[in-house]
Order: sequence, then structure tokens, then C-alpha cells
Amino acid sequence: MTATHLDGKAVAQQIRDELTARVAKVQQRLGRPPALAIVLVGDDPASEVYVRNKLKTAEDAGMGVHLERLPSATALESVLAVVDRFNKDSKFDGILVQSPLPKALGADAEQRVFDAIDPGKDVDGFSPISAGRVSQNREGFAPCTPAGVIELLVRTKTPMEGKHAVVIGRSDIVGKPMAALLLHKNATVTICHSRTKDLPAMARTADILVAAIGKPAFVTRDFVKPGAVVIDVGINSVTSPDEAKRIFAAFPERLQVFNKKGTVLVGDVHPEVAAVAGALTPVPGGVGPLTIAMLMANTVKAAELRAR
Ligand code: NAP
Repeated sequence: MTATHLDGKAVAQQIRDELTARVAKVQQRLGRPPALAIVLVGDDPASEVYVRNKLKTAEDAGMGVHLERLPSATALESVLAVVDRFNKDSKFDGILVQSPLPKALGADAEQRVFDAIDPGKDVDGFSPISAGRVSQNREGFAPCTPAGVIELLVRTKTPMEGKHAVVIGRSDIVGKPMAALLLHKNATVTICHSRTKDLPAMARTADILVAAIGKPAFVTRDFVKPGAVVIDVGINSVTSPDEAKRIFAAFPERLQVFNKKGTVLVGDVHPEVAAVAGALTPVPGGVGPLTIAMLMANTVKAAELRAR
């Protein structure tokens, strides 16, 4: 079996196309397009790439976007002051503080920052108010990555009701909300994590398997029931030649990317899974573009609520 390619890029484009008319309506009502404020603290190279993509996508969608850059040595109080300023600024509908924050800000820095974002502007869906709304299946802002996965499953007509979904990962921003959103689609959900016993056997019971672990090519074919739908949330940069050779031994075109650039992206799912799964999201081009599309959708929604 060769897995059907679940084309996140195409679905993300569809979602973004559907936003065009809504952006125009907001422009009419508010005299400005929906607008997003992004706060980037420090110079983490992966965050730089993510933020650049978000800025470009917002601009391409005709939305307003402002980037507030803060040096890595910024005190937490100053980050909170910037969030407070954007909370009060009616020119912005959404606020996003790029994660991760520099470690020097302290272990609870992200929680404190997410706590401080006005729930009406929490387009990343990371605040405890948003998490509560997701948990209770109420209207609000769901975190963009799991919300994007649900859009992909809905729009590719992948049945969820009555299916066994196994989510590997229990982070507040991916694993837990992913499990809640699948539950609201009437899947029977199991959440696995680093202390789960016999993870491959547990994963093999899944009709829908979501990998959100942060470990390159961790989910191998023995984790996958033949025909299962596999969603690869992971985005990992492989920079070691040995690791690249090990993962991509049977995938010369990906190895070529590594040989050319010295780095290659790989998900949490091993590419060999394509031989077993019924459907699989690629990395890149799967969940990543959906996440950004859902950020745009959440920002438009925040603006519409403001314009009501
Ligand atoms: P995270 O906060 O580090 O959480 C990772 C989860 O994986 C934890 O719950 C951890 O379990 C579990 N885990 C780690 N090692 C494991 C193991 N050996 N066996 C079973 N479970 C294990 O990561 P995250 O923020 O959820 O992100 C996960 C991945 O998604 C990363 O690769 C990240 O880059 C990617 N991501 C992609 C997008 C996108 O747009 N595509 C967006 C966000 C994140 P414990 O709780 O027991 O430690």
C-alpha cells in the first residue's frame, strides 16, 4: 500500500482563499483590514523563519501585521508591558507572542505571557481561557495546529466519528487540544506520552494516529496499523549526515536535499510509514501551512467579533 498524500498545502490555500471576502467585509466595517501584532523575543533561527512566514501570509491576505522585536535580554515585565499595550490598542485584533521565549525569561514566562493576552485577541489560542473554551467545545480560538489538522480531516472527508484516534504528545499547544478537538468530532481518543507503556502497540490500535512529539522519524512502520490515517505534526531539522543517511536511506531525493543544503526537514513520522498508512501528511507541506492558515482565520474571526 502507498499512503494517499494528505495535501495540507492545498487545503491551507483553500482556507486562505475563503478568507478574502471576509477580510474585505472587515475593511468595510472597521475602515481597516483585520490586523495582527506579532511579538518576537530574541533571535531563535526557527522562530525567525516561522515569523517571516506569518508576516508574508498576512500581507498576502491583505491583512494588517506589525512585528515587535525585542532583544533576548528583555525582562519578562517588558514583554508583559508590550502585550498590555497591544491588548489596549484597538488597531489590532490579534496578538501572537512567538514561542519559545528565551530560557533566561524563566520557566513560567510563557504561561505568564499567555495569561496576559486579552482572550478576545488570543488568536494563537494558548491562554487558559481559550483552552477552557476548547475543552468545553465552546466558541473561541482553538490553537492553530490542532485546528488545522481538524480542517484537513474535514475537508478531505476523513471520517472521525467512532474512529479510534491516538495522539502521541500531551503539550498544551498541540497534544491536549488535538485530543479535545477529535473528541468533539466523536472520535474515541487515547493520549500517549513519554511514560506510555508499549507505545508502538498502543499506536497500532489507531485508525487516526497523530504524532506531536518533536523527535525526528520517531514513528516507524511498526507503530502503524495498515490503512491508518497518519498526521505528522513534527517539524525537525536534521543536520547530522549520519542521521540523514539513516532516515533517508531509501529516499534518495530527500538525501539529495540534505547533501545540497546541509539540512533537511523531517517530521516525527518516518518516511517508511507511507508504505503502511492509508493516508499521510507530508513534511514539509502538511500540517505546517495549515497552522499559518488557521492563524489567519483566527485573526479574521477576532476582527469580525470586534466589528459586530
Ligand atoms: P512538546 O511540548 O515538546 O511536547 C512533546 C510531547 O511528546 C510531550 O507530551 C512528550 O511527553 C511527548 N514525547 C516526547 N518523547 C516521547 C517519547 N519518547 N515517547 C512518547 N512521547 C514522547 O512539543 P510540541 O510543542 O507539542 O510539538 C511537537 C512537535 O510538533 C515538534 O516537532 C514541533 O516542532 C511540532 N510543531 C509543529 C507545528 C506545525 O505547525 N506543524 C506547530 C507546533 C509544533 P511528556 O509530556 O511525557 O514529556
